[in-house]
Amino acid sequence: MYNFRLLRQLRLGGITQATATRLTQAPTCRRLLASHHKRRPQLGAVQSDQLQQLKTDYFEHRRELSNEEWQRVRQTLTDSYKYINSSNVDAVILGLCSTAEQLPLAKSYLGYLQAERIEPNAATLGRLLRVYNAAHHTRALSDAEQSEIVHICDAVQGAHETLDASSCEHLIHGLVATNHHWQRALPLLEMMKVTSTPSVAAYSALAAKAFSVAQPELAWRLLEEMLLARKLPKCEVYLAHLAHSAQNASTLVANLEQLLQFLERHDILISDLVAQQLMALAQRMPQQFQVASTRLDRMGKCTACQQHLQHVAISDAQFAELHESFLAKVLIRNDVFQKSTPEEVARFKQYVEQTAPYDCVIDGLNVAYSTGNKKPPQQLAKLLATVVRYFKERRKRVLVLGRQHMRNWSKPVWQYIQSNASVFLTNNLSHDDPFLLYATLRSGQETDFFSRDLMRSHAFLLGGDLKAVFRRWQQEHQYSLVTQTQTGQIIVKEPIRHRLSAHKVNNVWHVPCCDTYMTQPPDSFEVPEKWLCLTIT
Ligand SMILES: [Zn+2]
Repeated sequence: MYNFRLLRQLRLGGITQATATRLTQAPTCRRLLASHHKRRPQLGAVQSDQLQQLKTDYFEHRRELSNEEWQRVRQTLTDSYKYINSSNVDAVILGLCSTAEQLPLAKSYLGYLQAERIEPNAATLGRLLRVYNAAHHTRALSDAEQSEIVHICDAVQGAHETLDASSCEHLIHGLVATNHHWQRALPLLEMMKVTSTPSVAAYSALAAKAFSVAQPELAWRLLEEMLLARKLPKCEVYLAHLAHSAQNASTLVANLEQLLQFLERHDILISDLVAQQLMALAQRMPQQFQVASTRLDRMGKCTACQQHLQHVAISDAQFAELHESFLAKVLIRNDVFQKSTPEEVARFKQYVEQTAPYDCVIDGLNVAYSTGNKKPPQQLAKLLATVVRYFKERRKRVLVLGRQHMRNWSKPVWQYIQSNASVFLTNNLSHDDPFLLYATLRSGQETDFFSRDLMRSHAFLLGGDLKAVFRRWQQEHQYSLVTQTQTGQIIVKEPIRHRLSAHKVNNVWHVPCCDTYMTQPPDSFEVPEKWLCLTIT
């Protein structure tokens, strides 16, 4: 029954926003459906012409529809799409009017449901909260709108003792659009953890709200927590941080430093949107800091300030810590050698003690297969031999890790490898990287390794600040094969020697940028094209 009271309020609520409706994109619709139903409807793929027609006829430039029109929309959707039925059609329709400007239209649909005595379910009300949230991002919501949100949340929470993660996420998005009730979203984030890791959207919405209401400690706690779950904050979080920081000139620099250190620690690139906001803020507050958009030359020199970016090398102390932690956390505690027998591991360690140090450790199988694993054994062996020769010509001492079966590839070629490198072959080596990393780290701070593997999980297992140290060590020491030419020559990717993440040299920060929000930090070590050169004064 709560719904009818709610619907009355919605209908009576003032609708003040001018309408400039734009098309709702299909991905929004698919996301909505995916969160409520196990089987994913293919709205975009199936009968997309018809859906487009429906949007054009009923959703563009409209603030409200008559009950007859809503009836037609509802009927068309349930008749035309296999996965749309009476229990999800209302949420689908609200998914089709989900932009900020379409709030009046969404409310109009709720009015239709009231007239038809159809009770909106939690998913439908959740979608409505997302439309309020979209509006909140473009303007301050009126008191009446905020109390509508609170009533919806009361209704949904009143009807269900516990909510699924998707409903929690909807409610969080509604509550952060209010001035006085947003803290109710915090226990909902905890509730999400019962069934899953809270989503990027949920974390981001709450962290952004925490910044905007001057609760940075809460915001940073949420951000560190989401990074632990390997989720990157959405742009709205940084924008809220900048808006909050801009309010106080005396703390602006300290706030900025905190943000930049966070980007550095987690290897995060900022989007163009955030970069533009930083530049706009610098223009408003030139006494505190200046920002220029910049690029790097081939040697890692900033074309704006002419400074070289910091060398990526880590300190002796950092290497010692990395070496020790890698052995303790990654190799021993997490038991990554479990695919091998203890005897084999012991034999390997003894071999390394006897033959180290090396200049380079090569993952033999990874190299041999790097231009495809369907090639004849002779060719695989030749490729590996070419890589060994590459280092031999540079007077480097090499360890090749491989498997026993590689011995049968090609006797003469294999003989070349063995006479020009130390070779350790295992019987049953499923995971090569722990062996590779063990031998490389054990060999010393100057030792490089050759593999295309991104080593992401190893970096992650180290956690915290050491993750960043591992990535820097990896960047400095990882060689990989780009390709082999038709004449048999190899093109080797050598390490990039300057840092690729945000960092400060003297009073200048260099911050890598990307076009749009990235869900993951970059795995490979490519130099970002765009940077910000940010001088703190
Ligand atoms: Zn610079």
